[in-house]
Amino acid sequence: MVGAGVGGLATAIGLRRAGWTVTVLERRSRLERYGTAFGLHPTAQAALDRLGLGEALRARAVRYRSARIRRPDGKVLAALPLERVERKAGRPELLISRPYLIDALLAEPDRLGGTRIVYGQRLTDPDGLGADLVVGADGINSAVRTARFGTASGPRPVGAVAWIGIAGYETGVYGETWGAGRFFGMTPVEPGRTNWYATVPEAAAAAAATPDAAAAQLRAAFAGWHEPVPQVLADTDPATWIRYELRHLHPALPAFVDGVGRTALVGDAAHAMTPNLGQGACTALLDAEALARAVAAHGRAALPAALRAYDGERRRSAQRVAFGSRHLHRFMTARRPALRDALLGLLPG
Ligand SMILES: Cc1cc2nc3c(=O)[nH]c(=O)nc-3n(C[C@H](O)[C@H](O)[C@H](O)COP(=O)(O)OP(=O)(O)OC[C@H]3O[C@@H](n4cnc5c(N)ncnc54)[C@H](O)[C@@H]3O)c2cc1C
Repeated sequence: MVGAGVGGLATAIGLRRAGWTVTVLERRSRLERYGTAFGLHPTAQAALDRLGLGEALRARAVRYRSARIRRPDGKVLAALPLERVERKAGRPELLISRPYLIDALLAEPDRLGGTRIVYGQRLTDPDGLGADLVVGADGINSAVRTARFGTASGPRPVGAVAWIGIAGYETGVYGETWGAGRFFGMTPVEPGRTNWYATVPEAAAAAAATPDAAAAQLRAAFAGWHEPVPQVLADTDPATWIRYELRHLHPALPAFVDGVGRTALVGDAAHAMTPNLGQGACTALLDAEALARAVAAHGRAALPAALRAYDGERRRSAQRVAFGSRHLHRFMTARRPALRDALLGLLPG
């Protein structure tokens, strides 16, 4: 296994439960407990249940309900479809803090045994590993993908930058506010805290020399928006904000597996997507569980068939989500928002 993010750790747990001995190589010297929150769709919750992690998840996750899409002046345009998701799936969308999810995933290999995580190991050549199966869970810049599938597909910027952070209080105002070319979101994450994220065009977010200069840029980009947007940006310490350049994998890969049963890709390595649908971690968890299940069902002697089954179950589905997220990004960041807002106004409020 290459990469100890959400996808790699979940795959390691699934393969270990299927009786494999797993070594995880992680380039970082330790897992940094950074990050804000992941949305967990009911399908990803079911995958965590099948990996034996459902209880750990429910112990700390919070329900995400009653969120609205607003204009910068605060007018509500539509409801996020959370109630609809809940009615259809029979369980609510959840939010969980990333550090807690990583901790829960890390605790499981300890409990199960038979999994070794080797930190400070940046993989460059999967051929040197001598493993029966190499799983590339090494994120959007995947070295496994490059080595085994070439460079035809690679990370592509979408011309926007995102910041994420946590406010030390509950705003009570949840959902997203969509302006011209930018948006701001707030969700619950844990009692007493609010998860926030902001996306602006790249031109409005030139790499700043200091956190204070970056903060000034971001605060200016959302000045005059309805409260508590400016308040959240004023109250949180810019040194704790995390900045991302938004990228996705393009073009979509023709396969997540090789034809000989030696390599599979999961998570961002296979289908990195923009965060607009909040499905990056969800799809990584679904990949992990599906791969481990396929390998368990086919047995070690039939790895090529197992990997084909995994590819058949996950590739189109994950790529559809990635495509949808990219298009939602365009819609959300329309430079002339009047038509977009009029369309939103037609949705149930
Ligand atoms: C602003 C923003 C908001 C988001 N919000 C959400 C959300 O609400 N819900 C959601 O589901 N998703 C969200 N995501 C997406 C989510 O963070 C990722 O898509 C998801 O975590 C994918 O996990 P992964 O394990 O595939 O990759 P990663 O988390 O990138 O993990 C890859 C791991 O591999 C390691 N690695 C990389 N290269 C090597 C190498 N050569 N050798 C060894 N190790 C290596 C890295 O250090 C890392 O630990 C968001 C993303 C952004 C940018």
